[in-house]
Amino acid sequence: MDFKVIVVGAGPAGLAAAVLLAREGVRAALIAPPGHDDPRTVALMHPAIQLLKYLDVWPGTLAGHAAPLRKLKMIDDTGAVLMAPNLEFDSADLALEAFGWNIPLGALLPVLRAKAVELGVSFIEAAATGAKSEGDAIRVCLSSGDELSAHVCMAADGSNSVLRNAAGISTDKWSYDQVAVATSFAHSMGHDDVSVEYHKSAGPFTTVPLPDGRSSLVWMERPARAEALMGMNDKNLAAEIQIATHGERGLISNIGPRKAFPMMGLTARHFAKNRTVLVGEAAHVAPPIGAQGLNMSLKDAALAVDLILAAPDAGGDAVMTHYNSARRAEVLFRQNVIDLMNKSLLLGLSPLESGRALSLAALHFVGPLKKFVMRHGLSPPRDLPFAMRNSA
Ligand SMILES: Cc1cc2nc3c(=O)[nH]c(=O)nc-3n(C[C@H](O)[C@H](O)[C@H](O)COP(=O)(O)OP(=O)(O)OC[C@H]3O[C@@H](n4cnc5c(N)ncnc54)[C@H](O)[C@@H]3O)c2cc1C
Repeated sequence: MDFKVIVVGAGPAGLAAAVLLAREGVRAALIAPPGHDDPRTVALMHPAIQLLKYLDVWPGTLAGHAAPLRKLKMIDDTGAVLMAPNLEFDSADLALEAFGWNIPLGALLPVLRAKAVELGVSFIEAAATGAKSEGDAIRVCLSSGDELSAHVCMAADGSNSVLRNAAGISTDKWSYDQVAVATSFAHSMGHDDVSVEYHKSAGPFTTVPLPDGRSSLVWMERPARAEALMGMNDKNLAAEIQIATHGERGLISNIGPRKAFPMMGLTARHFAKNRTVLVGEAAHVAPPIGAQGLNMSLKDAALAVDLILAAPDAGGDAVMTHYNSARRAEVLFRQNVIDLMNKSLLLGLSPLESGRALSLAALHFVGPLKKFVMRHGLSPPRDLPFAMRNSA
């Protein structure tokens, strides 16, 4: 056997998985074709930050690129007749310094990569083209023509996962009539460490704090409008952002690189099968509402490593069954909440609309429920994998 575990894909989920395996002394390979620059930032909540601490990459140099999220605000900006009251969640209510931190992928990925090299992960610069499980092994085929074997494969190769197909796992896939424009901008008024989700009729418009008087932006719009935003010069886009934020951030300038992401959803019908464990977007994709995507993906990676370490056969049926049932249920729940919130905006139907407004109102006024939702967003510690509960 060449390795105990082969991780396929060097996005944030695959890199974190490879570093965690290496930290636990597991002989692991990472199949990593060359990547592209990604202007996104990711808001990572406490459990994910705890994992980064465990991996010894937080705070370190990363913290200098990141900004804390001390308050989360949701504003009904649909202009509907029945407006939901604004919601504000304060991390101080939970005696936390912050809910999490907003970190540019352009800073996170190189730091994880450097840690993986330092810990001796075998980097293989190729793409995976297929895989086959036989007996107690899985063989992964590479674009170089080589093959590698391991007891188990962690498929972190994104939403079009080759490994998922090779394992015979089908998906439920759907698209939204929306495109998210991701960028960043400077503003003359401070953000006060507050992330604001403006709920507009074409989808959420979310600003998230960055250091040095900047914020990142995820602007979900109908495709034609998103195309227009992508094609605008920086000055015009700054003016559009100023209007959309109602001037609450002052003068907008210095627009960062932008990228458009067509909105889709995907759920794998099995999260683990045939010695292949799906991690991150290979298993689940959801619109970027409530910063769930990578937070869920890092939990996938950490739980998979817990199970792999504990089992006599790292790719055996016990690991496949436990991982599938534990992760799929939680992911489905979160995808459903995101879908409901998104559709209530897009459809603007009155029963849904009033339901949304009322549920937001209930959250606002019923203190214990508000606390429950906040705690759920942060995940109670007893549900968490080892590396998300323990510091290094
Ligand atoms: C606009 C936007 C904003 C977001 N904001 C947040 C946020 O604030 N917080 C949050 O938690 N989540 C957020 N997300 C979600 C988050 O970005 C994703 O969940 C995360 O990037 C998924 O990581 P991944 O490693 O699973 O997939 P990817 O980042 O897609 O990485 C997959 C990797 O696999 C590689 N690969 C592909 N095919 C192969 C192959 N055949 N062989 C080998 N390698 C292969 C690719 O090159 C890539 O490096 C956001 C998403 C969007 C669209």
